[in-house]
Amino acid sequence: MTELFDRLKAAAGPNGFSEDSREIAPHLEEWRGRAHGKSALLLKPQNTEQVSAILAICHQTQTHVVPQGGNTGLVGGQIPLHGEVLLSLTRMNRIREVDTRGMTLIAEAGATLKQAQDAAAVEDLLFPLSLGSEGSCTIGGNVSTNAGGNHVLRYGMTRALVLGLEVVLADGRVLPMLRSLHKDNTGYDLKQLFIGAEGTLGIVTAASLRLFARPAQMVTVFTAVPSPAAALTLLGHMQAKTGGLLSSFELVSRPTLDLVLKHIPNTRDPLAKPSPWYVLMEVSGGAGASLETLTQSALEEAMARQLASDAVVAQSEAQARAFWHMRETISEAEKREGVSIKHDISVPVSSIPRFIEEATAMVVKKFPGARPVCFGHMGDGNLHFNFNAPPGKDAEFSALWDEMQLTVHDIVHHYAGSISAEHGIGEMKREVLPRYKSSEELDVMRAIKHALDPKNILNPGKTIPAVRRL
Ligand code: FAD
Ligand code: ZN
Repeated sequence: MTELFDRLKAAAGPNGFSEDSREIAPHLEEWRGRAHGKSALLLKPQNTEQVSAILAICHQTQTHVVPQGGNTGLVGGQIPLHGEVLLSLTRMNRIREVDTRGMTLIAEAGATLKQAQDAAAVEDLLFPLSLGSEGSCTIGGNVSTNAGGNHVLRYGMTRALVLGLEVVLADGRVLPMLRSLHKDNTGYDLKQLFIGAEGTLGIVTAASLRLFARPAQMVTVFTAVPSPAAALTLLGHMQAKTGGLLSSFELVSRPTLDLVLKHIPNTRDPLAKPSPWYVLMEVSGGAGASLETLTQSALEEAMARQLASDAVVAQSEAQARAFWHMRETISEAEKREGVSIKHDISVPVSSIPRFIEEATAMVVKKFPGARPVCFGHMGDGNLHFNFNAPPGKDAEFSALWDEMQLTVHDIVHHYAGSISAEHGIGEMKREVLPRYKSSEELDVMRAIKHALDPKNILNPGKTIPAVRRL
């Protein structure tokens, strides 16, 4: 062990490792506290060559290794659960290049999402990926989880934003795919394999990302809606009236807003009267006719059609930020309230209202006292369909985790939906995957894993189910 660690430490460079349990400790806990890991060695390489040297040794010695970025993942993928070596990419955090004419940016894996956004903004461009965790999550983590977030409706998931990748394979070889090409049909598009692979197929060391023109105008609206069905009609209405300029359409239930108002300082209800549901929407686009006038008139029509009962348009950037702050602190507010059983699911957009009605009724009946906290990226058919424990019942409620997930995931499956819309499979959903994914798809996943990581050293025990279930 000592000899192995000495070799790995030498490969990582003089400041590239730690065996100090105090330094390692924060890397072993997941944000929600649901996964606890252990590791005796933290490696912190600073360049691709060092990552390559580390993996060559791991491959040769069959040493298990877990890659980690900002440790904001929500399914335990980044936690070394069985004493694996931990490979943190956070010291590889340079923005290597911003090409303003080609509108691309090359970031190293450990650069935070915020760093990439800021580097684009300095050039008056936009990197549109936007998550509540953007101050800490990294580009490598975003790529490896194929992160979604608040602007998928307009710009797509991370996959749609990646033009090229640099990846270190399990045996230490580097796949040089860091191209900035929009079109490249020279055989299999190999980079796609590593996007959303949760560190099981290779280590992402850098990404070439698409940038966009920064919208000249942005209108943020906090809207009261009577029901999810009205929200669905409102979605189509706003898209039609603005000529497809919606960039966000986030559904928030009243109990969800109540949690934010209760737990997050300096938040206040933007509207005078309570409503059972809200939509936080963002309309963004070019110059020309005032986007605010266009949005206002679309909203007036929506109110006349009873798709919305009230709305407030942010009058300043600070007010728009305050609206978004409420949306982005929901997870924090849920955490402060106590135990929350979470489901990151998607169903076809048009099924959302029926799904919410049916699934909420079923859960509340089966688990009396469970408090629905439903919100999410309605424009993408993605809900965070969560339930908080009844007051004072955290421990009993925690014990219901598996049973409640089974109930919700079965309904999701019935709707031809997905049990992980944007957070991934990691450790948390690995063993339930065979219930919902075909054995043919799982076979192909296993074959790809075997081809790229024959010794199973990369993030073992994550994403790919171990056993086949009938
Ligand atoms: P980590 O958590 O460190 O790792 C995530 C996975 O990627 C792990 O399996 C890890 O092994 C692997 N990995 C990390 N870096 C690399 C690399 N360089 N090469 C190979 N594998 C790697 N997610 C969304 O999609 N949408 C949201 O709206 C959203 N909101 C969030 C809000 C909050 C408050 C929090 C805490 C999380 C949220 N997330 C969201 C989840 C999380 O932020 C994303 O999954 C993010 O992409 C993870 O990035 P990270 O750098 O923290 O990765
Ligand atoms: Zn989300």
